[in-house]
Amino acid sequence: MITLRNFIRLIGPIGPILLSLFLTSGPPSYDLVIVNGRVIDPESRSDSIRNIGISGGTIKAISTSTLQGRTVIDASGLVVSPGFIDLHQHGQDEENNRFKAMDGVTCALELEVGTGYVDLWYKQRENRSLINYGVSAGHIAARMRAMHEPVAFLPSGQAAHRAATDAEIAEMKQFLEEGLKQGAVAVGFGIQYTPNASRWEILEMFRVAERFGASCHVHMRHAGVKEPGSSIQALEELIAAAAITGAPLHVVHIQSTGGPATPKLLQMIAEARSRKLDVTTECYPYIAGMTDIKSAVFDEGWQEVFGIDYKDLQWAATGERLTKTTFDEYRKTGGMVAVFSMTEEIVTAAIKNPLTMIASDGILENGKGHPRTAGTYSRILGNYVREQHALSLMDALTKMTLMPAQRLERRVPSMRNKGRIKIGADADLTIFDPQQIIDKSTFQEPAKYSEGIKFVLVNGVPIVKDGQLQSGIFPGRAIRAPIH
Ligand SMILES: [Zn+2]
Repeated sequence: MITLRNFIRLIGPIGPILLSLFLTSGPPSYDLVIVNGRVIDPESRSDSIRNIGISGGTIKAISTSTLQGRTVIDASGLVVSPGFIDLHQHGQDEENNRFKAMDGVTCALELEVGTGYVDLWYKQRENRSLINYGVSAGHIAARMRAMHEPVAFLPSGQAAHRAATDAEIAEMKQFLEEGLKQGAVAVGFGIQYTPNASRWEILEMFRVAERFGASCHVHMRHAGVKEPGSSIQALEELIAAAAITGAPLHVVHIQSTGGPATPKLLQMIAEARSRKLDVTTECYPYIAGMTDIKSAVFDEGWQEVFGIDYKDLQWAATGERLTKTTFDEYRKTGGMVAVFSMTEEIVTAAIKNPLTMIASDGILENGKGHPRTAGTYSRILGNYVREQHALSLMDALTKMTLMPAQRLERRVPSMRNKGRIKIGADADLTIFDPQQIIDKSTFQEPAKYSEGIKFVLVNGVPIVKDGQLQSGIFPGRAIRAPIH
């Protein structure tokens, strides 16, 4: 017979552990549970009502049974999605992060322009960011450094206007290598802003990226359809560079660069992929782009390239359409200008294409800028999914979560725990009302929060609750490649 004394002797040193298990028995309790949500996971393509248990910033349980938690979010009637991952967000400060959060973005990365100083860039955001953040080593910045001009967002001096010497190209390679060694997520390019960067210079940068398994996020050399110098020629350069060097290629904002050529560019990418080349792309849901009026994009002949005129340019600071006089005036001072160069047909076709990810290309400064900063993701879900039926909710969410995570996984293995709802994944989650979600930002009023985003969690911490942005919390963490 097993007496209590024998029992205690038998279980020996593990007794206290068993006792504590006994005392805390019943279902485990989580830091936070989300109940009755329509949980959509693009990786498993599951779409069903589930409860989610979160502890320590990680998804610990996904279940149909009741879960206990210290905090409970009732997600009845709401969609629970992996947090949106924006691979193209220039604005990386508190102002921009607030608008991203209210649009459901939990990870915002500056991969096109990137930075010249990777370590410093990450240090400046440590414990100070609402959402997760990451950056590329930028070719533009490396070029400005090599040509000894102060590193600005976009170049306007020598780096914008002259060819580099072999010695300068060698220096640029070193700067990219330094950034990658410091954990840069990718390598960024804006070749249209550095039009005298030779094809050889670009190849040399791709070679560095390849050694680090880093994808090259490229704003192409040319826009539009006019030959020579079309976006088709520009994409040929990049696909060739990917084939020659083996570096993965990611073409940014394909619809704004391609304009009417966009369907052809997408066909070229599909064909390159069928030849086993690692080529991906992204688009944003607006018929106008935005850039600095001082940049090389507006060098002689821009009207022909885009098939537009002064009236198709809108000065961001005031909302006014430009004339030759105001264009010449603003070109001297510099500033952001919206470029109405696309049609709704082009944009819709790009969004529907299974190859495109959604990325915003966002930046707001003191409330001024392009509406894409604040509205990209809600606009896809409200306008293109719910109202236009251009694509399914599952496909839209795949383009905003799983695909961008997968793009970065090779270089940043921690991305395997983002863009998915699975046990062990980071609790970056966006909970929205699929009937209500819509963008509110416009070209006239770009700084307006989207509607319908009800809860946003970053590493398990709610940064949006009941549709209200929370303040004074900084749960965002660095998305960074391993540093060896
Ligand atoms: Zn760009």
